[in-house]
Amino acid sequence: MSEQSIDVPALRKDFPILDQYVHDKPLIYLDNAATTQKPQVVIDRINRIYTRENSNIHRGVHYLSNQLTEKYEQARQRVQRFINARHQHEVIFTNGTTHSINAIAYAFGEKYIGPDDEIIITELEHHANIVPWQVLCQGKGARLRVIPFNDRGELIMEEFEKHINNRTRLIAVNHISNSLGTINDVKQITDIAHRNDVPVLVDGAQSIQHQKIDVQQLDCDFYVFSGHKVYGPNGSGVLYGKEKWLEELPPYQTGGEMIQKVTFEKTTYNELPFKFEAGTPNYVGAIGTAEALSYIESLGLEAIEAHENDLLQYATSKLMEIPGMKIYGTADRKISVLSFLMEGIHHYDTGMVLDKMGIAVRTGHHCTEPLMDHFGIEGTVRASLAIYNTREEIDQLQQALLKVKQMFS
Ligand code: PMP
Repeated sequence: MSEQSIDVPALRKDFPILDQYVHDKPLIYLDNAATTQKPQVVIDRINRIYTRENSNIHRGVHYLSNQLTEKYEQARQRVQRFINARHQHEVIFTNGTTHSINAIAYAFGEKYIGPDDEIIITELEHHANIVPWQVLCQGKGARLRVIPFNDRGELIMEEFEKHINNRTRLIAVNHISNSLGTINDVKQITDIAHRNDVPVLVDGAQSIQHQKIDVQQLDCDFYVFSGHKVYGPNGSGVLYGKEKWLEELPPYQTGGEMIQKVTFEKTTYNELPFKFEAGTPNYVGAIGTAEALSYIESLGLEAIEAHENDLLQYATSKLMEIPGMKIYGTADRKISVLSFLMEGIHHYDTGMVLDKMGIAVRTGHHCTEPLMDHFGIEGTVRASLAIYNTREEIDQLQQALLKVKQMFS
């Protein structure tokens, strides 16, 4: 463990949005798994692009274009270092996790999926890591196989060996569940998969902001995430792929920038990473995301993990004090996501009343309907905690939930 710890009161000043009242109550923002708030350095970075630096990148001979092209490529390097990718060109900028998964589903599907092939996903997945594979399978006459989880919300690891066979072409799994907080043992999954020559795509939408990611150590073939969930801007994301896969896969979008030579008879493609970045990239989003990564690196990933783990333990014990409380997702290894229901009270009602008390949580199925089906429920209330949340906010959540309970009993 590092010596570094997080000075939360100081850090909260970096996030101007937190300093406000909603419904005449100080805002308590506990919807971080949906999106995180942005520190001033990220807002300033974006502002600076539009006030001083904006120009379309890559195509210019002029000063602004060259300068911003360099910043964009530096952003790529920053992402490469952050996730410890072997090569800079293994980092592709996209619009977000959903975009990245669809890109691989299309490109991988075009080249490698045929009738009777199989793709493995899990019962824990977000719709973004279910539907693209389902649609691909439907189009190609392939099959989707699903690894179940136990009632604590942990994947049943032995099922991977049972489901892999000589038709398996890919495993797509989330690193951390957005609905339950479960941390999946991705290294064990890539080990099993690679013993069987099967590549693995890791949906990192909920892991990049909570723990140190090392794609070489995880040995995943693809790792994807969204900028907006890691304190960066909306509409930006990353698709990491091992060089050998990215070299082999066809482009999933075509147009400007991804070409080497175009004639009416034939087009040849650009080298990596540009082959996968057709059109004008969201350079503002990419540079803003890189700034956000620098910000959390300056706080220290271990310090972030320690703080959030403390909050998780504290919040779990505070919620469990409430009679009739049921927490969904009690994995041994989980992050600071609390999905819960209070006996006899609809999740939506709980969320509405909390909102009136200034507390922002999410209610519903959280884009994981099959996961909710497993538990036989429609949805939950989800409080998801981040670097700027405090024990005091958890105390207020507990008090507010006790009031909700009183109102509905
Ligand atoms: N996967 C997981 C695990 C997520 O939590 C989310 C966002 N809720 C996504 C994928 C989709 O991310 P985005 O909407 O940023 O594309």
